[in-house]
This record gives sequence, structure tokens and C-alpha cells, in this order.
Amino acid sequence: MRWRFVLALLCSLVTGASAAAAAAQSTAAWAPLMLLEHSIAPGTKQKFSYLGGRTFEGAFLDTAVFAARGSQPGPTLCLTALVHGDERNSFEIVRTAFAETDAQRLSGTLIALPAININGFRTGSRYMPDRRDLNRAFPGGTKGSNTAVVAGIVYQALTTYCDAVIDLHTGSFDRANLPQVRVDLSNPRATDLALRFGAAVVLGGTGPRGSLRREVMEAGIPAIIYEAGLPLRFEPEEIRAGVQGVRNVMIALGMLTDTATAPTPAARVFASSRWLRVPIGQGGVFYPDKELGTTVSAQDVIGHIDEPFSDQRFIIRADAPGTLIGMAVPQVVFSGYALIHVARNN
Ligand SMILES: [Zn+2]
Repeated sequence: MRWRFVLALLCSLVTGASAAAAAAQSTAAWAPLMLLEHSIAPGTKQKFSYLGGRTFEGAFLDTAVFAARGSQPGPTLCLTALVHGDERNSFEIVRTAFAETDAQRLSGTLIALPAININGFRTGSRYMPDRRDLNRAFPGGTKGSNTAVVAGIVYQALTTYCDAVIDLHTGSFDRANLPQVRVDLSNPRATDLALRFGAAVVLGGTGPRGSLRREVMEAGIPAIIYEAGLPLRFEPEEIRAGVQGVRNVMIALGMLTDTATAPTPAARVFASSRWLRVPIGQGGVFYPDKELGTTVSAQDVIGHIDEPFSDQRFIIRADAPGTLIGMAVPQVVFSGYALIHVARNN
């Protein structure tokens, strides 16, 4: 009974605050940002917990909210991280980007949800406490599973406050992603932000149904994903590139007046991608023979699998030309396991 009360209170708090804040933004001059029960004055930053007081029942909602209100008017950029709780680079990108934001020099507002799956962050789990994938649960709602409720609250916040969204991820399980931005190339506003992020690779696609990016895009807000590195790690190079990308998007939106960095070499844009999987009937220890970022031709050897008992070696070849943008690290693999992510232009 108490749990229901806490949830109802939270949901009404979000809807009430969001509606009031949205109305205030559209009618008033540049004013303090009203977010949940907090007022963030122009030129200042605040960090607070989504759940004001800790409760056992609501612990899955006890995530951090960071907000920077610029001293000058401008758009609102929102950053989301740890939708997958084990993708730790994403948290560090958001934390660093926020820490390096000087609200006095900012035009507009930066709102960050750096640890949406806070329990997964603590335990190293991709999934929510109820074992669901949060990135298939958007737009969510006010009823249903723990995951559906968290998705609903995040979706409502993003669609109420944000003019653009960057959702941050890494490869899943023991796979590494070449730093890349993913975007729906049919949307010019989102594509412009994706290109100006400054990653060397931009990959087209809408994302799966229920993913944060796809559902937010369908609500009319340009949203892009930055994917970089491995889960369960803090990788300085990928993190620094992500922080710089966030800054580049802030510059593109007119929130900062700095000079953006360009990717070196210039960004390669791919229309689609596909995974090469372990052929049925094969399995063993996988070793890559090419590095991430390599451009391959059809039939090029990309990796091999050593069968541990028979000493047989299975060769993994490219089935078409493309660029390697994601790859499993050496590990035990079985039939059907996704090994190598290949970006293409068709
Ligand atoms: Zn992810």
C-alpha cells in the first residue's frame, strides 16, 4: 500500500513539476529552472537525487539528476547514461561533461541523468533489478513493472524539458565498440547533431522499438547515441572523445561559443550494419585477427575460433565489404553468438 502511495506521489510530482516548468519556460523571460522541487537560478548548477528522501520501496528511483542553468537563454540539451547499468564509460562522460560546464558561460540548460539504472551501476548489471532491459521499455508509463515505471518517468522528463538528447552507451557484454554516433539519417536535425558530435563513424538506423532514442525521436525531439568501448570499464580515451563530442553538440546548439573539434579523419557515414555470428555447429575460443575500424573486403579473414578439444580452427571471414565497428574480445563463444559488427553503405 505504502509503495503505491510513494509511486503515485512521485508520478504526480513529475507531471506537476514538468507541466508547470514547461509553461514557465515558454511564457517568462529567462528565469530559474524549476525541476522536481528544485529551483536552479541562471548561472548556477545543482546536483540532487530524484527521490528527495530515501525509501526502501522507491530505491530503484533513487537516481541522480544534474542540472546547469546557463546565465543566458538558449536550448536545453539532455544527457542520459547507464540506461544499461554496466556501460560505465557513459556515466563518466556525463559526469565529466557536467563538471566541465561553467554555467556562467552557458547559454541554455544542460540536464543530465548520469546513472539511470543506478542498481546496475552498483552491481555491474546491464539489466534492471526486475531483469528487464530498460532500453526496450520506453515510453513506459505509470503502471506495470519497475522497468516500465522508470522508463515512463525518464521519457516524460526528456519529452517535457529537452530540445535535444544524447544517450550514451558502450558495447554489450564482452564486446567493444569503435567510438561511433548512431542516428536516424532521415531526420536532418538529428543528423546534423550526429555529424557535429565529431566521432569518426556515424551509423544510420532508427534503433529498436522501445529504445530511448527511437521513442524520443518519435516524440519529435532529435536524439543521438554515442557508443564507445567496452562495458564494465572506465576507458579514458573513449570517455574523453565522448566529453568532447558533448561539447561539440553544445557548440552546434549555440550553448557554448568555443571552437568545435573535427574528427580525424573526417566522419565516415554508414547507412546500415549487420552482425557476423558464430556459424551453427561451431564454437570454442574466439580471437579477432583485425582491429576495430578496419575496412574489409568480402572473404577477408576477420578472426578465428579454436575448438578446444579437437584443435580444429574455424576461420571467420567477411561476407561483404564493410568497416568493423564492434567486436567481441577473445572469449569462449557458441553457435549464433554475435562476434563482429560490420557497417556498410547499403
Ligand atoms: Zn547500451
